[in-house]
Amino acid sequence: MTWLRGGVATDTGRTRQINQDTPFADDDLGLWAVADGMGGHKGGEVASAVAVEHLESAYRSGGDATLDNLLDATAAANTAVWDRADEDPDLHGMGTTLVAVARLSDEELAYVNVGDSRIYLLRDGLLERLTADHSLVEELVREGAITPEEAKTHPRRNVITRVLGMEPWVQADANTITPYTGDRYLLCSDGLHGELDDARIGSVLRRLADPAEAAAELVRLANEAGGRDNITVVVVDVVDDGGRAEAASALLRHSADDPAGFSAAVEPDDDEDDDGPAHAAKEPRAKAPRRVTLRVVGFLLLVLVVLAGAVAALGVYARATYFVQADGEQVVIAKGRDFLWFEQEVVDRPEVLVSDLAPAQRRDLGVGPVEFASLAEATAFIEDNLVPTTTTTTTTAPTTTTVPVATTAPTTAVP
Ligand code: MG
Repeated sequence: MTWLRGGVATDTGRTRQINQDTPFADDDLGLWAVADGMGGHKGGEVASAVAVEHLESAYRSGGDATLDNLLDATAAANTAVWDRADEDPDLHGMGTTLVAVARLSDEELAYVNVGDSRIYLLRDGLLERLTADHSLVEELVREGAITPEEAKTHPRRNVITRVLGMEPWVQADANTITPYTGDRYLLCSDGLHGELDDARIGSVLRRLADPAEAAAELVRLANEAGGRDNITVVVVDVVDDGGRAEAASALLRHSADDPAGFSAAVEPDDDEDDDGPAHAAKEPRAKAPRRVTLRVVGFLLLVLVVLAGAVAALGVYARATYFVQADGEQVVIAKGRDFLWFEQEVVDRPEVLVSDLAPAQRRDLGVGPVEFASLAEATAFIEDNLVPTTTTTTTTAPTTTTVPVATTAPTTAVP
């Protein structure tokens, strides 16, 4: 049976007054999590604590250790934070990030992510990040609008595009992964990855064998590097994978001992004229089925490539466009459109009202969202079309005539 062991460390850091992060680790239950709360007053610490508490209780009462149960528990955590904020005006607008790893009954691991906390995997000495941040700067980096270096000092680097508990529903990224003995998972809040780069994080994880010691050392180094935020680290080691790693290497050894059998599986489909006496004696029957297998595999690969192409094209259609649109009085930037299983996602809420925009753009937004190829273009559109606060209608006229139609090419989309 797969067995994992976790170690936890959390700290307020050097500049904050309170710790709004909440870690969770229960080796017996097989659930580990980090939540990083936000919201003025006491909101942040309440949000992360409520989220983790309800994640645990819902996962426990859900009964079976499955990815679906983990996703249901994440939704329950979201509802709990949302309801709590609704009940108490002091807590209104609070929210939290959440990353969690669960040991499933089918010996796999599942993980979920909302926000900019992260999950890393150290395997065979290499550190790999498993989650993508739901943050404005990471979107801009993905688009190539800014570099990862610029992201570190970007004035809006704290803007998170997905938060748990701020809406009645939440969209979590989720995946499963096969654990192997020796794997080490790291769950952390941005107080760690904002202070230490991946190289330093990796070197600590390779150096210290005990998960609790490794977690404590990472927190210590993040404080040493500045400690500008709350720092929370959960390190989870795969202690036993139920013999899976051993079976895999035994299979590899077996293949190495039997090079003929191994190469037969990947041998190209030769023509008939090599059927010398030696070949005919050795493997007359093995040949026919092998030929069929290769053909079938080739055909299946072709089908897969065509299907993947179709899915990718749908994804591009549904996700590749940004819209500047009105959300009541507010101007928002949304990514993608509601299409099949894709859902439109609001990625930025600049503090701009529809009435702040030049009349022509106000009219466009009245008809429907304005469409852009990138977040940077959408942001530029809003900034370029703000009515200067000190001016009157006489100066808005030249503003509207200089709208760079050719460069931003806004088109009115019918929703
Ligand atoms: Mg934080």
